[in-house]
Amino acid sequence: MITVDQALSVVLDRVEGLSSETVALEYAHRRVLAEDVIADIDLPPFDRARMDGYAVRSVDVAVAPARLRVIGEVPAGARFDGEIHSGEAVKIFTGAPIPDGADAVQKVEVTQADGDTVEITEPVSQGQFITPRASEIAAGEIVARAGHEVGAAEEAVLASFGYSSVRVGRRPRVAVLSTGSELVEVSTRPSAAQIRNSNTYTLAAYAAQAGAVVDRLGIVKDTPEATRDALTRASDNCDIVITSGGVSMGDYDLVKAALLEIGAEIYFDKVIIRPGKPIVFARLGSTFFFGLPGNPVSTSVTFNVFVRPAIRSMQGAASPTLPIVNAHLSRPVKDKSSRRSFLPARFYVDAGRAMVEPLKWGGSSDLVAFMRASGLIIVPEDVHDIDEGQLVDAMLL
Ligand code: AMP
Ligand code: MG
Repeated sequence: MITVDQALSVVLDRVEGLSSETVALEYAHRRVLAEDVIADIDLPPFDRARMDGYAVRSVDVAVAPARLRVIGEVPAGARFDGEIHSGEAVKIFTGAPIPDGADAVQKVEVTQADGDTVEITEPVSQGQFITPRASEIAAGEIVARAGHEVGAAEEAVLASFGYSSVRVGRRPRVAVLSTGSELVEVSTRPSAAQIRNSNTYTLAAYAAQAGAVVDRLGIVKDTPEATRDALTRASDNCDIVITSGGVSMGDYDLVKAALLEIGAEIYFDKVIIRPGKPIVFARLGSTFFFGLPGNPVSTSVTFNVFVRPAIRSMQGAASPTLPIVNAHLSRPVKDKSSRRSFLPARFYVDAGRAMVEPLKWGGSSDLVAFMRASGLIIVPEDVHDIDEGQLVDAMLL
């Protein structure tokens, strides 16, 4: 049995970034950059007015009031052709380039226009209300690195620097299949010994959220032949196959045996984690297999701890794991296990403090309680009691 950290290292060592592809900017959202983004122009591209008002020479308005001759105006999108000389001003609007000769702007609120002159009633200092050229970024600077995810703010950056298309990591193809002879389709009302297949939906949703292109392969019966066939078929054309169920020690836990039979190399089959423990990570050719336990909460936890990083890493993400943050425990936690526990929890803020509340839940099958989880409290292997108010590590889901 290996630790969570060891298992995660094995996963991240084995999994490699996929090829990259170029996509139009409108399809770049949520993708992982496969190239550095470089500014092709200065921002702002010129000394820019920050206020509506008058562009002036600051020496002319060092003392107020000062009367200046208005020699023109410059709205945003235009340029003033001439140059401002001593005693002159140009009416200017927010976003417009500062005319040559001017080195300050006074806002319109403290001015009084009168024919072709203006009285400026408050003095200005040099550079006032001007955003200097290149003060935000200079042409040639790297503004985002490969491995960074494209969010809404990144879209603005890409657009501003002319990236009508951008190179991003390919999205992995992920097949999801659920093993278990007790499973029935959602549309079926289960008989006494049956259970509706929910894991396919959770896993497909999580995988899609992580950026994968998902294939849902449905339910597989607990027979060696069916399991073998399904795994073989799933591996065709897929970068990752995720199964749920069939990895414990029972007679009908057939996933690991089937993987061995089809010639896969098993990297690990047990991790010191709760919930979870039996988790198979294997590879056949260029396809990776994650055999997750079937209990819905175990499935969700092990997906987020091990599979998500693999999916993100394949896309080239610089930080493929979910963030772990500190929060104060809202009530004590008792944890008898000597495995590393990931306890479903809810984050909230109380009087400005980040809090985390362990959920009351009925165990690994309690998928209804898990709906409330926004995180997982991490309890180290050798810790069994944590007091209320203590700072704990929690993974943000
Ligand atoms: P297993 O890991 O195959 O021993 O399954 C453990 C438990 O998880 C079983 O009691 C199943 O009822 C439940 N389970 C397994 N697969 C699924 C699934 N696809 N959807 C919902 N529950 C499942
Ligand atoms: Mg099963």
